Amino acid sequence: MWARIREQVQHGTLAHAQMFVGPLGRGGLQWALDIARTLHCERPEPDACNSCPSCRQHDAGQHPDLHSTFPVCKPAGKDHAISEHFQGQWRALIADSAQADFDLIDWREKIATGNKQPYISVRESTEIVRKLHLTAYAGGWKVLVIWGAQSLRIDAANKLLKILEEPPKKTLFLLITTTTDGLPATVISRTQRWNVPPYDEASIAQRLTAAGVATAPLNDALRLADGDMAVARRVAASPASAGFALYVQWMRACYGRAGQRITELATDFHELGREEQKQFFDYALHMTRQCIVANYGAESLVRLREEELAFAQKFARFIHHGNVSQMRDELEKAAAEIAGNVYGRTVFIDLSMRVQALLHLPSATPSP
Ligand SMILES: [Zn+2]
Repeated sequence: MWARIREQVQHGTLAHAQMFVGPLGRGGLQWALDIARTLHCERPEPDACNSCPSCRQHDAGQHPDLHSTFPVCKPAGKDHAISEHFQGQWRALIADSAQADFDLIDWREKIATGNKQPYISVRESTEIVRKLHLTAYAGGWKVLVIWGAQSLRIDAANKLLKILEEPPKKTLFLLITTTTDGLPATVISRTQRWNVPPYDEASIAQRLTAAGVATAPLNDALRLADGDMAVARRVAASPASAGFALYVQWMRACYGRAGQRITELATDFHELGREEQKQFFDYALHMTRQCIVANYGAESLVRLREEELAFAQKFARFIHHGNVSQMRDELEKAAAEIAGNVYGRTVFIDLSMRVQALLHLPSATPSP
């Protein structure tokens, strides 16, 4: 992919709008920044030389003809959300090699949005149009990076359409998005699309090992990351999945029909916040699915940490085609009740009664 892109850059045939599609932790942003660096380099060889003044400006994320747009929230005391307010945090994250290939979760943490969902506003699009109509500082290419383009509000995307259709001369748009769902077809059709491939295991292992990650968390990260560097880093950094301990105790209590224990666990569950309660049911759904995968011997496909896998190997035989779809339905129903503000303790106890019965169902007879 990079070979094809650099050929187009060198021959001047690169289309004026490029879109990199895939999970942000696969590093599409790095591709975009490398293109910008190569275009701006004063002594391309033919890749960027990494030593000219322009390359130095790129090192610091400060090249005057590189504009970056990304999802943000309204800061306190401001009446609009535009990336201008967050350039400092953005540059810090770009310059931090330990955080390379960051994703939206990392970014939200950086700008401390709490539960608020960052987005790209129509006001931002107005800013972009204004900036791109200014003359390039260095007289060469103006490059606009839109990172997290899936967060473009529909009015913001529509506002960009005209400049995407008729861009000022020597303007390059580089969009990085997790998905094209939700983006107007008119925007998508103006761009050349690249699917960003997942990182291979060797690259992830190399990066995490260099960061001092030990063998056990490294193996967990490789099993769960699915080629996503940001996910790999998070898995390696946290010792266990949230919810694992409660899940194990809960399944044991349900299987053992331990009513008193279930009541105690209902209290633990109730004390989680509503958001954590929902996450716990999501986690239970994930574990249920993984048990089915493990049950059918596809161990290499199981996406679990070491300790989860050890549990699932023993527990998987109680989850089978005779009860799995009902288990899934019950967990989804319970999650919906929590979302609908039903009292946590009640939901948990009701669900436990049904899970008890389901765990004791015989496995279905395979069809002939
Ligand atoms: Zn250079």
